Amino acid sequence: MSLSIRNVTKTYANGAVRALDNVSLHIPPGMYGLLGPNGAGKSTLMRTLATLQEPDEGSIYLGELDVLGHKEQVRQTLGYLPQEFGLYPKAKAEDLLDYFAVLKGITNRASRKEVVEALLKQTNLWQVRRQKLGGFSGGMKQRFGVAVALLGNPKLMIVDEPTTGLDPAERVRFLNLLSELGENSVVILSTHIVEDVSELCTQMAIINRGKILLEDAPLKAVKQL
Ligand code: ADP
Ligand code: ADP
Repeated sequence: MSLSIRNVTKTYANGAVRALDNVSLHIPPGMYGLLGPNGAGKSTLMRTLATLQEPDEGSIYLGELDVLGHKEQVRQTLGYLPQEFGLYPKAKAEDLLDYFAVLKGITNRASRKEVVEALLKQTNLWQVRRQKLGGFSGGMKQRFGVAVALLGNPKLMIVDEPTTGLDPAERVRFLNLLSELGENSVVILSTHIVEDVSELCTQMAIINRGKILLEDAPLKAVKQL
């Protein structure tokens, strides 16, 4: 199932800022990179795809599904990892993941236990499951964010600037985790770091000042820079 973005425009400040200017993209299953500098419009596009914000114009389709017209349905199959998972420092990882599982509609206690355990192991957080998020490193927080985003087996994963502030070892670990996800779903990774896309993504677009400059395979795209 592909994600299709057609002529999406979003302005702020009564039209003074064109954060997204007639953006169209076709995003196939796998890892897709959205590369651009600060202020390019990446977060605006990611929040729009995550149905957290309305575009002024345009349409978004996930397969046959009209995303903007079916927000509740989309949210059920959507994983969104915001820039920094900084919330709830006093909660323990296992408890908080269990709580988010309830919010995702996994109400059966036994299946929740199973899902939470599998995700904590997959993200390499099983050993620290009883520790508080406040004591986690940046990389651990990001991996916890992935666990939350993976609840409910999303068909669409939206990952916004995940490697900002991670040290090199954490970054590699995190990117390896992401690369496992791209097999069955659409994973969109926004970043200002060229290596994030060149190492990980099969397809990419470059965005600047709200406009898509090019879409290509990473190696070819980076050569055109
Ligand atoms: P990026 O994620 O690539 O840094 P953003 O989507 O955050 O880009 O921002 C795109 C442009 O829109 C920037 O010029 C930014 O200052 C502006 N912008 C983002 N959010 C708002 C907002 N809520 N109100 C006004 N301007 C905004
Ligand atoms: P990013 O670039 O990743 O979006 P920012 O630090 O620019 O992060 O934005 C943080 C928050 O401030 C976001 O919710 C964004 O919508 C909002 N924001 C960004 N730029 C502006 C702006 N020029 N005016 C008002 N809000 C803004």
